Amino acid sequence: MRLTILGTAGVLPDPRRAQSGYLLEKDGRLVLVDCGSGVFSRLAQLSIDWTQLNTFVLTHLHLDHMSDLLSIWTARWLLGAPDVTLYGPHGTREFITNLLELFPYIRDHLRVTVHELRARETLPIAGFEVATLAMNHYVPTLAYKFDSQLVICGDSEPEPTLVDFVHGCKVLIHECSFPDALPAPLHTTPTALGQLLARADVEWLVLTHLYPQAAAQTEELIKAVQKNFPKRVTVATDLQVIDL
Ligand SMILES: [Zn+2]
Ligand SMILES: [Zn+2]
Repeated sequence: MRLTILGTAGVLPDPRRAQSGYLLEKDGRLVLVDCGSGVFSRLAQLSIDWTQLNTFVLTHLHLDHMSDLLSIWTARWLLGAPDVTLYGPHGTREFITNLLELFPYIRDHLRVTVHELRARETLPIAGFEVATLAMNHYVPTLAYKFDSQLVICGDSEPEPTLVDFVHGCKVLIHECSFPDALPAPLHTTPTALGQLLARADVEWLVLTHLYPQAAAQTEELIKAVQKNFPKRVTVATDLQVIDL
């Protein structure tokens, strides 16, 4: 599979970072995990036919993870592709129904299928074998594991059950919203993340969802994580490609 990281910022704007978005490709099929502000523009920068993207997965229903969703769906409809499938945590169906009520001119042209997922589910999504795990954030939030190789977490404070969930995986994409010096309620700081993962069996940790204070000191973030997790740790950049 190929992962293209489309956005790596938290809520606050960064000229080099869009908000959360992760595009997966395998055997010609595409899945987008999260879809924050700026992700659609990043998608258009790729040399792919994004109109073929009809499968969307949300970690949670915060704005910085879904604000470009209707923009993409509307553009697909205008280009003759009105069918989309959306996977997300508890509450996704009501959320999308209510959102589309505000835009009847869009709603009436789309054909949306919503699947609400629970934690500890395993299911096929667009050719991937996907497993879910509950994270700990302000709203229902899931982490997703793809083909036992890649885990993409939603926002969360360090979640102890993640250690078993990532066992044997190659890549873990985890938020690192703030540096150690700042409070990070229901988010993650680098030392806490390293402590969480100290005995985790995962090859490569990629830090993402950076607020400006974290984005300004990426080397320090990596060092802080590696105090307890002495493995490959990098900071994600927009349009980074990872082949797995
Ligand atoms: Zn977020
Ligand atoms: Zn959030």
